[in-house]
Amino acid sequence: MKHWSKIARRILSHFPWNRYRVRFSDDIPDNSVRRIIYVIGSKGNQWLLYFRCPCGCKKEIYLNLMQEESPRWQFLLRRNKINIAPSIHRLKGCKSHFWIVKGRVVWCS
Ligand SMILES: [Zn+2]
Repeated sequence: MKHWSKIARRILSHFPWNRYRVRFSDDIPDNSVRRIIYVIGSKGNQWLLYFRCPCGCKKEIYLNLMQEESPRWQFLLRRNKINIAPSIHRLKGCKSHFWIVKGRVVWCS
């Protein structure tokens, strides 16, 4: 059953209304909203991406943007759509592995 709901979510993630939106914030929000990727930090000093896992497990994902830390991700905004590189792979819990391309989830497996 759990397996099927995961497949359904994956299919739904391809629909345009399931695109992630981007919100800039000075700090990690207390109440994060699904389908929003938060870019944390001040302009020119953004250090973290924060959002909820798209698989539905609702776990928080924190991606470091700081050059001096590893691992490190980069994001690119094009026409308000976010791209994140490299891919995001949760090693714990749901073990989801995906890319964010133009605000959409592209699953690796
Ligand atoms: Zn998950």
